[in-house]
Amino acid sequence: MNSRLPFDTVLIANRGEIALRILCACRQLNLKVVCVYSEADRQAPYLALADQSICIGPASPSASYLNVEAILMAAAATGAGAIHPGYGFLSENAAFADAVAEAGLVFIGPSGDCIRTMGDKIAAKRAMVAAGVPCVPGPDERLPDDPKVIEGIAAEIGYPVIIKAAGGGGGRGMRIIRSATELREAVELTRKEAARFFGNPTIYMEKFLDRPRHVEIQVMCDSHGNAVWLGDRDCSLQRRHQKVIEEAPAPGIGRGRIAEIGELCAGACREIGYSGAGTFEFLYEDGAFYFIEMNTRVQVEHPVTEMVTGIDIVAEQIKVALGDELSICQEDVRCDGHSIECRINAEDPYTFAPRPGRVTALALPGGPGVRSDTHLALGYEIPTHYDSMIAKVITHGRSRGEAIERMQGALKQLRIEGPACNALLHAELLEDDGFVSGNIDIHHLEHLLAERASR
Ligand code: ADP
Repeated sequence: MNSRLPFDTVLIANRGEIALRILCACRQLNLKVVCVYSEADRQAPYLALADQSICIGPASPSASYLNVEAILMAAAATGAGAIHPGYGFLSENAAFADAVAEAGLVFIGPSGDCIRTMGDKIAAKRAMVAAGVPCVPGPDERLPDDPKVIEGIAAEIGYPVIIKAAGGGGGRGMRIIRSATELREAVELTRKEAARFFGNPTIYMEKFLDRPRHVEIQVMCDSHGNAVWLGDRDCSLQRRHQKVIEEAPAPGIGRGRIAEIGELCAGACREIGYSGAGTFEFLYEDGAFYFIEMNTRVQVEHPVTEMVTGIDIVAEQIKVALGDELSICQEDVRCDGHSIECRINAEDPYTFAPRPGRVTALALPGGPGVRSDTHLALGYEIPTHYDSMIAKVITHGRSRGEAIERMQGALKQLRIEGPACNALLHAELLEDDGFVSGNIDIHHLEHLLAERASR
């Protein structure tokens, strides 16, 4: 081991395409890799590429990929010096980040304290207000118990309002209220749900925006106080709050306006001592940005930013964890052309029912400006226990039109037989007038699907 480095082996506490993505970044940096896997992932093709792989428990995520003790034991048994959590699973679990540090290992991500602050939506909002980042109108405080006071807060914000669980996530623990008559019951229900799902009954209220777009800013920070923003993404095409197609940059928004928001995000990171990769999510309506939450990890859609900036976000995360200063300064960050990502799920393109299976034929798209991120291989049996995303197809073009055309070509090349996949839905969406216009709100896809169902 190079004695100057804090670690030379990275344990990847995740699975699927992101495990392979992190493995590739480690190889680029000449680091050794330990993969962990559940009993259901024993056949995962990328395990053969790791220096060591170790089973951490049964298929159920709570017994394996969420099992802190098993993961720390795997690190100790294999001599790993750092843990990359990927996305989902333990990636935004502050107690896990603390436990990794307490075990004398490096957590590839921000500190447990930063994760904790950003995981509490009220604390996050307060930190953003303090840093001058624009937030959705509404108090950055918990709702009190007195129904009369709550009515007063709603009247001041103006209906419709939304109440949200401070500890919420995954699009749950939220309720829209359109008039005072619904208020009392909705508050009670949301409090109960918040306590049940997130173990924390604290709720807060803000303005409900009717037709916003989802626009986010990628940031990257080191442990020496440097922070840069790497452009923006539009992820408005969503079904049940799950992103379906993402792109960079967000079409039709002035670059000067994006730069203002980007600078505020980078400033907020310096203020809270953030290190690693992160994403500030905003709702964008009538020319204004409203912060909703920060993701303190790498995101599924990070490749579109990599394609337009040429920066390897995962390698940068690892270098920052090694103690390096950022290899880029803000002036070096360029946004070149346009990039689109389609999330390929093993599901029926019409009913969305999960349809995993054994891969009996596989052709991945390639060629200029085309990237396929996937862990699939011929003969691989997709386990039924996890998220249905099995691949991401990403294209880059000099213009948005070229990125779309390349995606249309790429989807024709893509062939996955055995499991079902949603490539047909993507092909349809790429021809939708709303999508082509580049100015759709977060409800657009749901409306489109409702229309399709009624035909
Ligand atoms: P989660 O952490 O559960 O993903 P978010 O705060 O990110 O919760 O919100 C999830 C989604 O809910 C947003 O992408 C948006 O579609 C909707 N949403 C949240 N807050 C508002 C709001 N104030 N107005 C309108 N829609 C909202």
